[in-house]
Amino acid sequence: MGLNDIPSSERLHIGFFGRRNAGKSSIVNAVTNQGLSLVSDVAGTTTDPVYKAMELLPLGPVVIIDTAGFDDEGELGQMRVQSTRKALNRTDIAVLVTDAQVGIGQWERELVELFEKKQIPFLIAVNKTDIVSGKVQGENCAYVSAKTGDGIEELKEKLGALADKPGRAARIIGDKLERNDLVVLVVPIDESAPKGRLILPQQQTIRDILDADACAVVVKDTELGDTLKTLGKKPRLVITDSQAFASANRQTPPGIMLTSFSILMARYKGFLDTAVEGAAAIDRLKSGDRVLISEGCTHHRQCGDIGTVKIPGWLKKHTGMEIDISTTSGREFPDDLSQYSLVIHCGGCMLTPREMSLRMKCASDQDVPFTNYGVAIAHMTGILKRSVEIFPHLYNKL
Ligand code: SF4
Repeated sequence: MGLNDIPSSERLHIGFFGRRNAGKSSIVNAVTNQGLSLVSDVAGTTTDPVYKAMELLPLGPVVIIDTAGFDDEGELGQMRVQSTRKALNRTDIAVLVTDAQVGIGQWERELVELFEKKQIPFLIAVNKTDIVSGKVQGENCAYVSAKTGDGIEELKEKLGALADKPGRAARIIGDKLERNDLVVLVVPIDESAPKGRLILPQQQTIRDILDADACAVVVKDTELGDTLKTLGKKPRLVITDSQAFASANRQTPPGIMLTSFSILMARYKGFLDTAVEGAAAIDRLKSGDRVLISEGCTHHRQCGDIGTVKIPGWLKKHTGMEIDISTTSGREFPDDLSQYSLVIHCGGCMLTPREMSLRMKCASDQDVPFTNYGVAIAHMTGILKRSVEIFPHLYNKL
């Protein structure tokens, strides 16, 4: 996989925030050595956040987010500020750019409050130190001049130190495998499968199995039973696409553990325990209850009609109730979930772990159960317990 193939959801997202004309875009350009942003001396040149994937040493693959001025005015300005606030949900590390001549004011304090509320580690880049030495002092400050380039390397080093903090080292399945373990992956090839390639969670899982010095065998759902019979060794685990769960369950003999990509991705993104707990809410649904089905991207082809047709159909069949379904996709996710009895989210393969955990936290803060496609499907097909056997702390609870 070349550097440019590293998916956005696996890159560290660094957001640059500040008021208009603090020199935010010039700092972004100095840090990245590229004309990433539109820079002019006219306050408020950046409109919607600009996202750019790149290699940034010493950090590695990152996405740089350049945002509009946080003090923007007027109707259009307010819309920009809203997009800036949304960009916070995608930010792993924030850089607050201030003007050394102006110091910290209301806007900067508001941004710092937001970083703290969303638990985003941040640095303050005190810019224009070529004109005046910084009024702002503190351990998390970096003194820079976008104009002369002074302090930019130190800023990058400080960003590197923030990025080294723990939290992004989760494995997909490799930590549960031993050397030479055999794992069978079930990948249905139907009209929703992309032409000529595997989708991201499948690629990531294969890579993680190889990293554990284990062996991956990939089959279509129609070939699983025969393949299991012909293998000379008992597989440690079968991992299936959620849509083939019921068929994979029938074809996999007892004694071989079974789970799904979706369940593994929920764990990788840090919300499997919540999702397993949330799935129990399906059995408590009553007619007229509202359920939010949310997808993390708008190009649904690889998830097909699972959120819009299949899950609503299975919910109705499983509960026997008339459930009121709403759907969202892409970056849209409502702040107010109080009207919902349950949120069922997709695997979130295009979302960063931080975005997924913010969505989950948003639901738990409002006491709304939160689960995902794979866990909900496993629950409704009666195989949730079997599908978490590889995670004993969950298995023993069900
Ligand atoms: S982000 Fe969600 S809807 Fe989009 S491809 Fe990934 S799992 Fe499917």
